[in-house]
Amino acid sequence: MGVILIAMLATCVALVLFGMRYRETPDPGVIARAPDNDASESAAMSGLMPVSAKESPAMEESPAEQNLPDGGEKLIALTFDDGPSAYTAGLLDILAEHEAYATFFVVGNRAEGYPETLRRMVEEGHEIGTHTYSHADLTKLDDIRDEILKAVDVVENAAGIRPTLIRPPGGYYNAEIQEFCAKNEQSLVLWSVDTMDWKSRDVETILDTAFHSGAYSVADGSIVLMHDIYEVSVEAVDQLLAMLAQEGYRFVTVSQLLTLRSAGAVPGEVYNRVT
Ligand SMILES: [Zn+2]
Repeated sequence: MGVILIAMLATCVALVLFGMRYRETPDPGVIARAPDNDASESAAMSGLMPVSAKESPAMEESPAEQNLPDGGEKLIALTFDDGPSAYTAGLLDILAEHEAYATFFVVGNRAEGYPETLRRMVEEGHEIGTHTYSHADLTKLDDIRDEILKAVDVVENAAGIRPTLIRPPGGYYNAEIQEFCAKNEQSLVLWSVDTMDWKSRDVETILDTAFHSGAYSVADGSIVLMHDIYEVSVEAVDQLLAMLAQEGYRFVTVSQLLTLRSAGAVPGEVYNRVT
């Protein structure tokens, strides 16, 4: 009898939680930003946080989230652009050692050469997003369809999953791109921490940038931008993960972060930090 009562109570709680979650769906179309010359800074400065992120402790225990880390934990989404490359397999080893899950924004014409790496990403729990087919600035194209969808197709053909996240090269996007993404099941993901790994190519500098960049330093809900086409970036990740783990962070994919902190990624919407 007691078991039945508990089951009924749990069902009621689940229904209430579902209702709350449903209402928290972010309002699409709130965010629109014209492209500018400093994608890195503007992405961080723009404060794009379409997600109303505050959820009650009860919601964090929703049954839908049982396979995810406790929503009360500090979370970071590491992201890697421009690959895959010869260094990506080593990066996957390091992520596995740290039990970290990451998101790879792959370039279509590179991804064609690494089908096994793409499959491994999926098998090991990582997320694959796209970064266009040829790393084109989408705001400068007359026809964005091929650049976006060809990359999605490459990943689907190799790894059997259809990516739903896109990081526009340089962080450049406009209303037309958002509209296309909304119609094609793609959410735009920028970043809140730019490690500038491509610029310094130095482990210490990468770590220093990640931790000491004022409002743009690593924090709960950060989406961190790195690149898996430099050996030094992979070395830096090993240390970055160890340091962040000591501070109690868990490392999740962008979609996991959005699921834990909101109703999940909304097509056409733009994200850079989810608190
Ligand atoms: Zn890029």
